[in-house]
Amino acid sequence: NRQTHHKLKKVRMPIEPTKSIWMNGDLVPWDEAKIHVLTHTLHYGTGVFEGIRAYETAQGPAIFRLKEHMDRLINSAKILSIPMPYTSEQLQDAAKAVVRDSGLSSCYIRPLAYYGYGEMGLATSNCVVDVAIACWPWGAYLGDDAATKGVRMKISSWVRHDHNIMPPASKTTGNYANSTLAKMEALNAGYDEAVMLNKEGLVAECSGENIFVCRNGKIMTPPFVSGALEGITQHTVMSIVRDLGHEVSFEALARSDLYTADEMFVVGTAAEVSAVNSVDDRSVLCPGPITTQVAELYADTVRGKNPKYAHWCEEV
Ligand code: PMP
Repeated sequence: NRQTHHKLKKVRMPIEPTKSIWMNGDLVPWDEAKIHVLTHTLHYGTGVFEGIRAYETAQGPAIFRLKEHMDRLINSAKILSIPMPYTSEQLQDAAKAVVRDSGLSSCYIRPLAYYGYGEMGLATSNCVVDVAIACWPWGAYLGDDAATKGVRMKISSWVRHDHNIMPPASKTTGNYANSTLAKMEALNAGYDEAVMLNKEGLVAECSGENIFVCRNGKIMTPPFVSGALEGITQHTVMSIVRDLGHEVSFEALARSDLYTADEMFVVGTAAEVSAVNSVDDRSVLCPGPITTQVAELYADTVRGKNPKYAHWCEEV
């Protein structure tokens, strides 16, 4: 009884197995990193996760802003009252171990903390907390030509989570059902990505990226209070935008700010800096001059080629 997606824009993001996955303190062979079908989080969406990238640098593979990602994982767990059995430092060491073991020079890293097997029901007080960290090679999330040709965006009919419904500050696994609804609606309609508005109707973010709008010489991105994740790439990009001599600020944005933008780009660990081509079929300059500058400097920064931020690249 599957739905037919006749207009479906097919996106493939296959997982390529690597050697091992870190699970609760051990490096487990990839094919043995299994869980029981009655795992609590599989039923209720109660896990928290991160998405991190390692890049090849002159010093070897280095994980970009590893501390900030693991600190955010700890905070996501805190928001959900998940007792995290590891410190940020232990998780950072575990991520380095799994990347080292993979032998990869660059990869995507996926830490996940979840309630494991043993209890069912919504009370989590007796649930065990399991933690896993996997890595694998992963290409450009919005396509290889996203930085140059740009992505076609659609304002979603789905409303972004609210602070008092599912806190957007936490990367909760269950939150991403909301993102998937938006992503699939956009793909089914022939677009690449969804822009999500909050319940006040203001721009929050995309299904998996923060958004930047350049309009009348100002560069703006919606703040956390608008329902945007406090993106680590958003923070990186704001720093490098200022270094490039531009002003950038957090601003509440209406959808028409997107329609009349001079240029626009979306940012995230997976998507990196991707140019926006249009929003609801209203074209914007793509890639605009600021987008091109930012994408190039971001690509250098994550690879340790920006001396000011070399400390953000954590050798494995
Ligand atoms: N918003 C959402 C909803 C996301 O899932 C992500 C990816 N983690 C981002 C924004 C970008 O965050 P970051 O730059 O920290 O990857």
